[in-house]
Amino acid sequence: MAYQLICGEGYPLTEKQRQLMELAAELGRTRFAGRAEKYDREASFPFENYQDMHESGLLRLCVPEAHGGHGADYPTYAMVSAEIGRHCGATALTFNMHVCTMMWSGLLSEDLDMTAEQRAAHRQHQAVHFARVVRDGAIYAQPFSEGGAAAAGAQPFGTTATKVAGGWRVNGRKIFASLAGGANYYGVLCTEKKGGEELSRRDTLYLAVPADAPGFSIYGDWDPLGMRGTVSKNLLFEDVFVPEEAALMPQGIYFQAASRWPHMFMTLSPTYMGVAQAAYDFTVAYLRGEIPGTGPVKRRQFATKQIALAEMHVKMEQTRALFLRAIHDARIDPPKSARLRAYAAQYTIMENAVDMARLAIRTCGGQSMLKSLPLERLYRDARCGALMLPWTAELCMDRIGREALYEPGETD
Ligand SMILES: Cc1cc2nc3c(=O)[nH]c(=O)nc-3n(C[C@H](O)[C@H](O)[C@H](O)COP(=O)(O)OP(=O)(O)OC[C@H]3O[C@@H](n4cnc5c(N)ncnc54)[C@H](O)[C@@H]3O)c2cc1C
Repeated sequence: MAYQLICGEGYPLTEKQRQLMELAAELGRTRFAGRAEKYDREASFPFENYQDMHESGLLRLCVPEAHGGHGADYPTYAMVSAEIGRHCGATALTFNMHVCTMMWSGLLSEDLDMTAEQRAAHRQHQAVHFARVVRDGAIYAQPFSEGGAAAAGAQPFGTTATKVAGGWRVNGRKIFASLAGGANYYGVLCTEKKGGEELSRRDTLYLAVPADAPGFSIYGDWDPLGMRGTVSKNLLFEDVFVPEEAALMPQGIYFQAASRWPHMFMTLSPTYMGVAQAAYDFTVAYLRGEIPGTGPVKRRQFATKQIALAEMHVKMEQTRALFLRAIHDARIDPPKSARLRAYAAQYTIMENAVDMARLAIRTCGGQSMLKSLPLERLYRDARCGALMLPWTAELCMDRIGREALYEPGETD
């Protein structure tokens, strides 16, 4: 069967979008897919894939053109990421952390209100981060999670930064930090500690800590069910000094971004869109007897298989329609309907990816879940999507219910 980009034939793409998606698809098919089993089995970081993404330019996807990047917008990022997710979920998920660090510091920050002084300082800091990626192929991680309510947006981050001459001193811990040991910089969300004052979410800082900074260390095991190649270990920050230029956003600006640019939290879903598509693609190829090493028995002639595949197809198209609509809604201060649709899209993609992998195994049958084939890895990888904070499947439902029934400021 001919390979089709995730958006489907005839979908209106700019020339740049088509080129970048085709590049991701080509790397995915010819390099990432073949390596995915090894990273999964070893729970090791996909360094070779990152080298390929550096050399091909994908690593600078969301670095602005003026700084030597592709200047990709939100929908372009999402479709490229989904294309990678079809071939290696762990590469797509970690690519999200890196690329979105550049997106948040780049195009997203352009929309936010800053004082002239903040904007000028931000310009200087951006240039440092972008140059590292473009020139050196630096990789950025995005550790938020601490195991409490902070990553869900309900409390200030317990990791703190104290202002000192020339920069900040960072203290705290993060859990589940994808790219642990793979990243050159860790974009840490932390709270500014101001004398004896209580920590406040308004004082959230976003600082890039270099992997070789004294006081920074990685600890703990990593032996999870799925997305094993993300190597999401724990991080410890003990009095880590970072200079002013470590700021990925100026003081107070992350809080503004989180309230005004909600789609910034939907960026994990493209990975799982790709995983869902991969489960569907596998099923079609398997039933046609086209999976190497399993044929040449065809199973497509049975009506039961045709109906099962039809069910998957309908689910895939429903998921794709919402995905493509929601990624084009992304902007500052979107209308309420777009915000609710973003939650609905995230929920749908994360839940349907699990369902697509489940249906794929049920439809293809026993042989399809052998570890020599990718389907059982897709099944395990898919299971992780609904757990990702701040928009877990549960929290998306929580937000939809509340925000659909209450206007801002309303209470009972
Ligand atoms: C493969 C994988 C890769 C990951 N990579 C990263 C990464 O790179 N960076 C990163 O930061 N995280 C990452 N995560 C972590 C992920 O985003 C979650 O933080 C993690 O799964 C939460 O686990 P938990 O058991 O603490 O969750 P939970 O217990 O569900 O939630 C954490 C806390 O949030 C609060 N909470 C839950 N629900 C609500 C609610 N309705 N209202 C208010 N508060 C609530 C609770 O206090 C709860 O203790 C990754 C996770 C996985 C599985």
